[in-house]
Amino acid sequence: MTTLQAFTFELVLPREKKSTVNTNYAFFVGKAGNSESIVINDQKIYIAPNGAFAHSVKLHDGDNRVVIRSSYNTQVYRFFKNKRTAAVPEAVCDFDIKRAVVKKDNTPLRSTPVDAGMNRISHLFKDTTLLVNGSKSGFYRVFLAKDQIAWIAMKDVEVDCSEKELEPATFITMDSKKYKNAAVQTVKFTRNLPYTIEEREKEIVFRIYNPELSDSSVYTVNMQKPDKYTYNTTLKDGLYTFKVNAVPECFKDCTIVVDAGHGGTEKGAIGCLGDEEKNINLRIALELAERLKLMGANVILTRECDGNTSLEDRVKIAKNCNANIFVSVHLNSIGDIPINVHKNKGTSVYYYNPNSKRLAECVEKTVTQSAGTRKDGVRTASFAVIRPTEYVGILVETAYMTNPCDSVLYTSENFAYNAAKGIADGILEFVGQ
Ligand SMILES: [Zn+2]
Repeated sequence: MTTLQAFTFELVLPREKKSTVNTNYAFFVGKAGNSESIVINDQKIYIAPNGAFAHSVKLHDGDNRVVIRSSYNTQVYRFFKNKRTAAVPEAVCDFDIKRAVVKKDNTPLRSTPVDAGMNRISHLFKDTTLLVNGSKSGFYRVFLAKDQIAWIAMKDVEVDCSEKELEPATFITMDSKKYKNAAVQTVKFTRNLPYTIEEREKEIVFRIYNPELSDSSVYTVNMQKPDKYTYNTTLKDGLYTFKVNAVPECFKDCTIVVDAGHGGTEKGAIGCLGDEEKNINLRIALELAERLKLMGANVILTRECDGNTSLEDRVKIAKNCNANIFVSVHLNSIGDIPINVHKNKGTSVYYYNPNSKRLAECVEKTVTQSAGTRKDGVRTASFAVIRPTEYVGILVETAYMTNPCDSVLYTSENFAYNAAKGIADGILEFVGQ
């Protein structure tokens, strides 16, 4: 009898019987025993054929009591919701212009003083000299040119407090070369200067700012971009090299990195049945790699077994093998805003740079066709593995682990194969041949 009672339902979430939260909803995810019915706060909830269920309860400020019960089991959960006080916006603190030097490569220069979202203008190199003239929320305001500012995290720069005047950087040389599948532009100055990148419909605009010289000293390089393209920027001793590459037209010439999300101690999302995302990601990734190899591509996996791989290492692997395409495989979870758990369902594909939007669209279409998932959308997101411009990068959330209907799908025998087939079909459609 005890065993039966223990199996009437098992909750994956919430983890604690009593908790203090800042969220507007409490999220219940779990598995019900055979033909069990579950009631949460007097509302009977949907249970998928495999027992998976998920439900969200709106919380009010203060103490909330949620009762979950089945025929043999009743449990009470308590949530104390903190009252949210509107944050007072911090004002910009203005000061006289100071010099600041970037401490390390790949430092984001942002359009807003916020460490999140789609606000990266470029990634600056070590020893780039900047002019800063204000601060806000842990960021310096960077003066680029007249009416052009940007923001950089204070921790990423060293402010030069010395009184000594530095000579403004001067232009030395400029050169451009065209190759079969690439165009290269070089610009040399006497010092490392800040730059920005703007992707337009038919061209990429690289701008190098020389703010110490005058208010309007901007060197602009317009580079044509092919239909499918990647690009990269390097800077060494004042020499900028901008390279725009065409993605190979032929599938057999493509190097594709397949990235199984999470791994090792990083389990990823936990599904209704208590299953771990990292394992399903790996299954799909292995199927995908196999399939892409059979189709003739050069394929590299970021992990082939269950182990920890850092985000930096995943990017490094892709850059070192000159990947043309990078596909990160994941399953979604509801996150912090479980407004309606049943609406968060299906396949979504994320990209960061405009050069990856079309691949994301192709893959959303083909995965939903192949795996039978619902279209959940193509969206932008600032995930580290898809930010580099050196490759066309997408992150595929094949299904929601916290959606009971999706849980039936992704735990089925053919899901990994079908999802992999869908991703491969999408890449093929994007590349062409
Ligand atoms: Zn994930």
